[in-house]
Order: sequence, then structure tokens, then C-alpha cells
Amino acid sequence: MSLNMPADTPQRHPAITGYAIRDNCLVIGDTPVTRLASQIGATPFYAHDRSRLDARIELLRHYLPDGVNLNYAVKANPMPAIVQHLSGLVDGFDVASAKEMQTALDTPMPAKRISFAGPGKTPQELDRAVAAGITIAMESETEMRTISAAADRQGLRPRVVIRVNPDFDLKSSGMRMGGGPKQFGVDAERVPQMLGHLAKLDLEFVGFHIFAGSQNLDVQSLCETQIKTADLALALAKHAPAPVRHLNMGGGLGIPYFPKDQPLDLEPIGANLAEVLTRIGSDLPEARVMIELGRFIVGEAGVYVARIIDRKESRGEVFLITDGGLHHQLAASGNFGQVIRRNYPVAIANRMNEAPQETANVVGCLCTPLDLLANKVELPRAEIGDLVVVFQSGAYGLSASPMEFLSHPRPAEILV
Ligand SMILES: *Cc1c(COP(=O)(O)O)cnc(C)c1O
Repeated sequence: MSLNMPADTPQRHPAITGYAIRDNCLVIGDTPVTRLASQIGATPFYAHDRSRLDARIELLRHYLPDGVNLNYAVKANPMPAIVQHLSGLVDGFDVASAKEMQTALDTPMPAKRISFAGPGKTPQELDRAVAAGITIAMESETEMRTISAAADRQGLRPRVVIRVNPDFDLKSSGMRMGGGPKQFGVDAERVPQMLGHLAKLDLEFVGFHIFAGSQNLDVQSLCETQIKTADLALALAKHAPAPVRHLNMGGGLGIPYFPKDQPLDLEPIGANLAEVLTRIGSDLPEARVMIELGRFIVGEAGVYVARIIDRKESRGEVFLITDGGLHHQLAASGNFGQVIRRNYPVAIANRMNEAPQETANVVGCLCTPLDLLANKVELPRAEIGDLVVVFQSGAYGLSASPMEFLSHPRPAEILV
């Protein structure tokens, strides 16, 4: 990481310090952001840096044990160029819709390394998944029957896993996705009975998918969850009609979004996973064990860039009004599941070496007070025409934002 930034600049968030700066301008993928804006010919836009994706995968491979497979959860960023790029770097894709499935199938990734999870898969989607020959994570007995009917009609024997709603959750997570009553997966205590029914159907049972939560920055919680996940998988495997060959242990690794967040230390997580893997290996020797990560892979590789269209003062506060907003970057506005609104790291892309001179609010162009990209941040004095950059925007950005709200045009999204 290049640290060519003076210490007295406002951009001290760990997410920002890793970027290069050239002629006072932030550099993404070896190109200054101002030049990317000229290349695209319009603002706002998303720019993702492929060398940062590569570095992320290298980091994971360095710390995680060799035996663990690394899946990318496509919903974090389904941009086809990114999925294509990652197809050569990860071991599998997790998709959550038929369109994501097609994006994944368009890459060289083998179909059976693509798995499809998520509640409410329609009979049509399941038909397509059976025909595609991917691995299907069944979220209910209803889905199992629908898949079985599709398989009979098509004369195919699909690879299936049961998505388990664990009897524990991932503590201190940004988003809990298991434990307690949930729409995801089959409650762990009901799985043995479902396995009994499955044994009578002509489906190729290969294993389990257990996902407990997301956006976690607590090493101990993550390690405990890995252990509990393995315990649960080993207990459920005793009821399985065939050897477990596929065990998706979830992921949950978070990234630092807010000022007090610290990046995860992967070393203890990798060491814990190595022990867990050894235990699984002795009981389930055929199991291919995988973790699935979304934001940890793509989140820090992307920025959102918007241009300042107006600058005004209102009753003592400065407002930098941009041509972007929550219709493209909902999460940065604090409206994507956050309980307390906190600022994503932001900077003025063309004034990276200038010291903070004022406290400003960065807002979007939508007619709602929710359209706040940064609240009272210290920034250099910014002028009309300058570019605001929102970091940590590579995951749950454009595809997780209400793009149609106010009917502005779709922004460009590029991979540099
Ligand atoms: C969304 C999702 C993920 C990815 O979560 P991140 O926080 O982006 O890593 C992984 N697995 C499942 C089942 C998901 O639904």
C-alpha cells in the first residue's frame, strides 16, 4: 500500500490511506479520478479497481488454510465484468436469483461450482437452475418438492444442499441471517426429518449450507460461529442419506465503514478455520468445505464519484450539493439497514493533499432530507465542479439502491 499522503490531511480513515495520489488527485487503477470522469464523459459513476480485487483474494489465500474453498457471493456486486474477473480467482459463486445465475454461468466457472440460495425461488427459477446443472440450496420442503418435480420432468438429477437456519446466530453482526425464527433456510431441528424425505426422492444430496450473519468485525464471534457451524454440520451429517461432499460454512467477514471500525485480523480466523477443517476432515473426509464472502472481496475495491453542482450555506452550515445521491449509493446515506446513521469515508477527489478547512454536509440531488451522503465532515474547501468520492462503495452499491427514485439516468459503472 502506498502512503504518500501528508499526515495533516482529513483523509485518515484506514480505507483511504491505501490509495495513491497524483497531482492532488485520487488515483483508481492507476488513473486519476478526474481523468476517469473525462473518459466516462459523465458523473456520477462507480469505479472498481481490479488490482484491489486481486490483492483481496491474495490476502485471503495467505491467511486462510489451503483446504478451504473461497466462494464469491454475487449479490454483493453483480457487475458482469467483476464476476468475470473473479471467476479466475475464486473457487465458486453463490447466486441469489436467476439473473445472477446467468451472470455466473457466462463466466468460465463450472456450473456445479455455482450454488443458488435464497428464499422465494420461483418454480421457473428452479426449473432453470435444474437445467443449468448448478448446485441448489433448498430453503424449504416446498422447494425440495418443486425441484424434484422439475428434475423428473427434465430427466435430470440435480445436486442439492439443504440451507440450514442454525440454532445460533453470529454475535455482534451488522446483519443477522440465522438463529431464531427466520425466512432463510430450514430450522436445524427440522433438518433430520427433511433428510428422511429427501432420501426417497431422486435428488443428488451433496451437503449443507449454513450462514449465520454478515458484516462482522469481531474475531472472537467469527471464530465461535465457525466452531458452532462445524458442530451443527457434523451432527446433521449423521442423518444424511449420502456422504457430505459440500459444506458451505457461511462467511460474515466485515469491512471497516465507520471511523471507529478496525479492519479484521485474518490470522486468528485462518488459524481457527484450520482447526475446524481438521475436525471436519476426520468425520467427513469427502467434504469440500467453503466459505462465501461478498463485501470482504469487493467492498473496498470500489468508489462512488459524484460532481458538486452547487455549494451553499444555510443558517451557518455548508451544503455541497452533488449530482449523485442515495438512488445510487443508498448504504452511504444510512438507509440500508443501519440503526444509527454514520458517515462512510469521503473525500474531495481533486483536492487530496489539501488540509481540512471547513465542516460540510455532502448531499445528493433528490428531494428528500434522507439524501445525505456525509453529515458534517471536515473537508478542504470544495467548489462547484469538484468531485466527491465515497469510499468502501464496492459492495451493495448500485444494485442495492433505488435507482429509479426520481428518474435520474443510470450511472456508469466501470472496472479499471
Ligand atoms: C448476502 C449473503 C452473503 C454475502 O454477505 P457479505 O456480508 O457481503 O459477505 C453470503 N452468503 C449468503 C447466503 C448471503 O445471503
